[in-house]
Amino acid sequence: MENFDYIILGAGSAGCVLANRLSANPNHKVLLIEAGSKDTNPWIHIPGGYFKTMLNPKTDWCFQTEREKYCDNREMVYPRGKTLGGSSSINGMLYIRGQSNDFNYWRQLGNVGWSWEDVLPYFKKSEDFQFGENEFHGSGGPLAVQEIRGTFKVCDLFMDAAEEFGHKRTDDFNNGDNEGMGYFPFTVRNGLRCSTAVGYLNPVKKRKNLKVVTNAHVKNIEFDNKKADKVNYWIGKNVISVKANKEVILSSGTIVLLRYWSR
Ligand SMILES: Cc1cc2nc3c(=O)[nH]c(=O)nc-3n(C[C@H](O)[C@H](O)[C@H](O)COP(=O)(O)OP(=O)(O)OC[C@H]3O[C@@H](n4cnc5c(N)ncnc54)[C@H](O)[C@@H]3O)c2cc1C
Repeated sequence: MENFDYIILGAGSAGCVLANRLSANPNHKVLLIEAGSKDTNPWIHIPGGYFKTMLNPKTDWCFQTEREKYCDNREMVYPRGKTLGGSSSINGMLYIRGQSNDFNYWRQLGNVGWSWEDVLPYFKKSEDFQFGENEFHGSGGPLAVQEIRGTFKVCDLFMDAAEEFGHKRTDDFNNGDNEGMGYFPFTVRNGLRCSTAVGYLNPVKKRKNLKVVTNAHVKNIEFDNKKADKVNYWIGKNVISVKANKEVILSSGTIVLLRYWSR
């Protein structure tokens, strides 16, 4: 059984970042396990292509919600990315941080390190903002953030009308105050989607201490007393077992274990 220090389940938005950061230390041996395929489908990278990748079982888990009583008892489609980059490979690419008040509230609840002031340096560190560094934006980070290239007359007229009704405009949704109208920035570089696979994984995937496996569906996690130390995953019909010396990391709330039939 192969041994790793860290085993990361899911190569989505969070998983690719974790793989990059943990393998930056050459003493860490890291395994990143992804149920979906490599992100070679060209529609992943063309910004408007999410109409081809959403609801496509090769790139989307194609979940459906339970019937929702307050939505006329309907089942809703609930897309989630299933490829390197996870949902960041099929999402709408809007780059919008949370509200500063929410972060500050979390801190007040006792979560050290989660105030707006605490997290802002990390937002900036991760960012490669088109117009360079300023109080709220960073440059040179792995995640490209660009403004929309054109404007739309209908949107401008809509915003003019809303302004007449007293709604405010904003030219930056990422300064901690999300209120206002304006054009969203996108996680796009030179006209192509900047998923976390593109931004965080591609530059480091040749590191000798990082192994990335795709089409590998994690089946279950085994525990030694209360410590997770073994992961079993399917490649086709074979089950591969790997051991974690330090940590098993579930990178997302959407890791689906034991659903062999859903692969
Ligand atoms: C259609 C759509 C549009 C969206 N638009 C926006 C937007 O414009 N702006 C924005 O900020 N957010 C948007 N989001 C939300 C955002 O993309 C997600 O919140 C974010 O990507 C979640 O990151 P994650 O790391 O938690 O999960 P994911 O990125 O979904 O990663 C989970 C990964 O785990 C893998 N996985 C799951 N189960 C297993 C298993 N058993 N074994 C191995 N691998 C497994 C999955 O295949 C996936 O790659 C959108 C999401 C979708 C789906």
